[in-house]
Amino acid sequence: MKLVFATHNPNKLKEVQPLVPSQIELINLETIGCTKDIPETATTLEGNAKLKADFVTNNYDLSCFADDTGLLVNSLNGEPGVYSARYAGPNNDSNANMDKLLTNLNGKKDRSAHFKTVIALNLKGKTHIFEGKIEGIITETKRGENGFGYDPIFQPNGYSKTFAELPLSIKNEISHRAQAFKKLIAYLNNIHVTG
Ligand code: IMP
Repeated sequence: MKLVFATHNPNKLKEVQPLVPSQIELINLETIGCTKDIPETATTLEGNAKLKADFVTNNYDLSCFADDTGLLVNSLNGEPGVYSARYAGPNNDSNANMDKLLTNLNGKKDRSAHFKTVIALNLKGKTHIFEGKIEGIITETKRGENGFGYDPIFQPNGYSKTFAELPLSIKNEISHRAQAFKKLIAYLNNIHVTG
């Protein structure tokens, strides 16, 4: 069975393919001829994940899953949330996004935050939602070189290092995204066994 992963990133696909049952062939958006960016206009992570999965299912009549991720900071009422990629403007500049967040947190005592990933899977006429979450704090300064996005200022609870200081192997074991994908993969493995 072919299953579309609604991503333009071939590396994301390569990462997930070995984990799904061998009978499921993952394909990306380029392979189905979808080269444009699917609009992410919803106001929630779940809404955007559904928008992307529905776009593929409705336009290409294919089973599909899509993910959306955000960083939610408690004392900023969940900001930057669904707008994490473009918090400081339309260019997806991670340094500018982190600077804006650090400025907005200036003087706030509560620096708790969490990353959340939502995956929407459209399969056999039904939508299934899988979520992964990791709690932590926003540090006072940027630390570390690994990873991407807000990694230098996010320190997961139970660790003294930021995501950007931790080895990628540890981040990939505990992260919001890893947890959501583990749930998706468990589901796919299970329906394959039970039919
Ligand atoms: P996306 O939905 O995976 O494209 O993530 C949206 C935005 O959230 C990214 O552009 C990053 O700014 C941020 N983000 C997502 N995942 C991570 C992560 O694992 N570490 C740091 N930032 C992330």
